[in-house]
Amino acid sequence: MEPKWHRIWQETATHKTPERSEKPKYYCLDMFPYPSGSGLHVGHLRGYVLSDVWARYKKLQGYNVLHPMGWDSFGLPAENDAIKRGIHPRINTEKNIQNMKRQLEKIDAMYDWSREINTSSPEYYKWTQWIFLKMYKKGLAYRKMVPINWCPSCKTGLANEEVVNGRCERCESPVTKKNLMQWMLRITRYADRLLKDLDKLDWPEKVKTMQTNWIGYSEGAEVVFKALSARNKEEFDIPVFTTRPDTLFGATYMVLAPEHELVEKITSPYQGKEVQDYVRQSERVPEVERLSEVKQKTGVFTGAYAINPVNGEKTPVWISDYVLLAYGTGAIMAVPAHDRRDFEFATKFDLPIREVIYSQKAERKKDVSLKEAYLEEGKLINSGAFNGLSSQEAREKITQHLAQKKLGKKSVSYKLRDWVFSRQRYWGEPIPIIYCSRCGEIPVPEKDLPVELPQVEKYQPTGTGKSPLENIPEFANTTCPGCGGPAKRETD
Ligand SMILES: [Zn+2]
Ligand SMILES: [Zn+2]
Repeated sequence: MEPKWHRIWQETATHKTPERSEKPKYYCLDMFPYPSGSGLHVGHLRGYVLSDVWARYKKLQGYNVLHPMGWDSFGLPAENDAIKRGIHPRINTEKNIQNMKRQLEKIDAMYDWSREINTSSPEYYKWTQWIFLKMYKKGLAYRKMVPINWCPSCKTGLANEEVVNGRCERCESPVTKKNLMQWMLRITRYADRLLKDLDKLDWPEKVKTMQTNWIGYSEGAEVVFKALSARNKEEFDIPVFTTRPDTLFGATYMVLAPEHELVEKITSPYQGKEVQDYVRQSERVPEVERLSEVKQKTGVFTGAYAINPVNGEKTPVWISDYVLLAYGTGAIMAVPAHDRRDFEFATKFDLPIREVIYSQKAERKKDVSLKEAYLEEGKLINSGAFNGLSSQEAREKITQHLAQKKLGKKSVSYKLRDWVFSRQRYWGEPIPIIYCSRCGEIPVPEKDLPVELPQVEKYQPTGTGKSPLENIPEFANTTCPGCGGPAKRETD
């Protein structure tokens, strides 16, 4: 029965979606599969069968249903599969697509195969590049120096998935961080909308919660500490974000991420060596470990002090790897009495722990000092004019007070980060940007799209952190669309 109907559906083009129709439109879109060497697995079919049932149901209801299929065929999975097999990614990907299409045709889903797309074909990625240019012109695609995972032995950048327990998946060397210029997509500009519009979605609560946590919205205050360089007495602002401005009088020291740009500028000459050693050592500590609750806290005093803006107190500035550059401002005000990690750090390095939020619920030692950090709310103590206020009142009042002194303001923070879009790899659409020594960074004019990925012999990662495209002069060298002079293409 199956071959018979397969033939009849093919001959009568039953699944072809007419361009124009009196019927109302319905679009049923699946996630396109990565063309992998192992072919379809049962997880693919689980999704595709269900969406096919839905598409057929809508068709029977009288809709003109478009149910397309295609291949998400650029990127690391396809390239790594090709490298493993020693077959050029283009050939390997084509082969994999053929095989998966053969498998997929067997379920006779109502795909309109005449509209099949393939993200690694120039006709398709012309539009990927077009969208990139639109985002570039809106300031949504931009370049920035960012630390990436780096294997010093393989001499290559690594995706997070390629780092296992802080070591390179391939050669097991400890992975370090390396600053590289990367293309970023400014998804943070949409953080607020991404969060608010979740209300409009008919999604399972569990998925919405995951999404909410990923965006990680929190309200609080930005507080500015004035730091004095221990090197030359120059003054610097250190802004920090806190969700608990009510604890500001309890900030007894500050911590900068070891990668923070101010570290070098404020560190005293006497502490220089120790600080440098620590910075280098922390480059080798993977992020998961730095954030771990169980890891022993480490850190070094820079020799510099910063002024707590509410009480004018001099607080020592330390560096420690439990503060990450990518989170908040890369600096924190440490309130050991009311933050678990600060409490641990202060205990280890014998820094003052000053209780400023009083509650009878707090766990205490015999001498009534805190046994552990008290994290909840309470009444303010040791907080000057704000004593006696509740945490909630104090958050408002202290933030207002800071705003008047121009040393702080209400602020919000997101955990969401901009997305690193570039890879120093071969198998992806070229980024349509040209660098000219006279005109600077210039987008490829739309009429010149697509910028085609050149056919090359050597597609393997170069080992220098640069894309293999860099070594292809016919691709890398071009003329500037602005002045007609010699120019270089973006090769990431
Ligand atoms: Zn390695
Ligand atoms: Zn030019």
